[in-house]
Amino acid sequence: MKRAECAQTVCIHGGEQPPIPGAPVREALVLSSMYYLPREEGQVPWSEPQAGVYARNGSDNQLLLERRLAQLEGAEDAMVLASGVAALAAVFGTFLPMGSHVVCSTVCYAAVRKLFGGLLCSRYGIEATLVDTTDVEQVERAIRPETKLIHIETPGNPTTGISDIAALARLAHESGALLSVDGTFASPLYQRPLHWGADFSIHSMTKYINGHGDAMGGCVLGRREHIARLKREAMINQGGVISPFNAWLIARGMMTLPLRMRMHSENALAVARFLQQHPKVSFVRYPGLEDHPQYQLAKKQMTGLAGMLCFGLCQAAPGARARFLRQLKHIAYALSLGDTGSLLIWNEGEQARQYGYPPEFHQGFFRMSVGLEAAEDLTAELGRALEAV
Ligand code: PLP
Repeated sequence: MKRAECAQTVCIHGGEQPPIPGAPVREALVLSSMYYLPREEGQVPWSEPQAGVYARNGSDNQLLLERRLAQLEGAEDAMVLASGVAALAAVFGTFLPMGSHVVCSTVCYAAVRKLFGGLLCSRYGIEATLVDTTDVEQVERAIRPETKLIHIETPGNPTTGISDIAALARLAHESGALLSVDGTFASPLYQRPLHWGADFSIHSMTKYINGHGDAMGGCVLGRREHIARLKREAMINQGGVISPFNAWLIARGMMTLPLRMRMHSENALAVARFLQQHPKVSFVRYPGLEDHPQYQLAKKQMTGLAGMLCFGLCQAAPGARARFLRQLKHIAYALSLGDTGSLLIWNEGEQARQYGYPPEFHQGFFRMSVGLEAAEDLTAELGRALEAV
C-alpha cells in the first residue's frame, strides 16, 4: 500500500504537477480569465467545474490549492471560494432545502448567526435551533424529522469550546442529516473533521492557512459528489470564485503552516499560563490548559492546540480597558486571527450573555490570536498593559 506523505511535505508539495524540464519549479501565477478551447465540434462545458475553460469554472491556482488542501486533510475533493463566509453560505445554500431545519452551535461566527437568525429563514423558510453543541444531549433534543444539517464550530469562536465531532457525526447520520464543521480555529493541520465522520470540513483560509493577513479565502472539503454539486451551484452559478492571486498567495502561505502552527501553539500556551497566574486576570480559556472544560476531548480530537485564547479582566470598566489597550505596542487591536502578528479584540459581556456563552464571559473578555513574536516579548507587553489596569 502506498504510504501517505506527512503533512509537512504535503503543505509544500501537495497538488504539484509532475516535473517537466523547462517548467518553473515554483507555482506560476496565472491571471488569465479565459483559456483556449478545442476548435473541434462538440459541446463547450460552460457550467462544468473543470480546468482550461474559464476562470470561474476553475483557475490553475485555485485548482492547485484545492488539490493541496484535499491531500492535507485526506478528503476526496475540495472547493475554495473567495472568503470563509462564502464557503459557509455555499454549504448552507446547497444542502438546506426550503423549509428544512438546521441545528447550529450557539457559539458561531457572526455571519452564520445572521444567516440562520434571519436571512435564510425569511427567504427560504429554513429554521435554525441554536444549542450548546459541546453538550451532545442538547443537540440530540434539538433534532427534528426535517433536520438536514448539524453545523458546529470547534473550537468555537470566540469561547474555544470544543464539540465532539465523532459523537455529533453519529447523531447526524442516524437522523439522516449531514454534519458540517468550521475548524478555522484549529486549521486542517491540527484537526481533521472528516476523519471523525463529518461530511464537510470548512475553513476561513483568511486565517491560519494563509497565515500572513493579506488574502481572503474559504474552503470546503468533503466527498467528491458533494464538492461537485457545490462547485456547480455555489461557485460557477453563483460566482463566489477566488481570485487566482489570492489562491496563489494562500498556497504560498500554506507552505509554512506546520512551522507556524507549532509556534502559535507554543506561544499561546506560554501566554495562557502567564495570564492564568496574573492577579488582574479573572479567567483564561485555552484548550491546552488543564482547567478548560473540554481539555480531554481537545487532546483526543486535535493533534495541536493553535493560538486562540480568551481572558477576562478583574476590573473590566471601559476606562480600565482603554488604559490596557494604550500600553499595547505590537499586539494589534484588530479583528481576524491566525496572522503572524498577535491580534486582540474586546467582546462585550452583554452579547456574551445574550448568546448563551458560559458565565465567566458575561463581564466581557478579550479574544487573543497569539502570533509568532517571541513569547517573552508578548508576556512582557501584556504584563505592562495589565499593570495599567
Ligand atoms: N469562521 C470562523 C470561525 C471565523 O473566525 C471567520 C472569520 O473571522 C469566518 C468563518 C469567516 O471567514 P472570512 O472572514 O474569511 O469570510
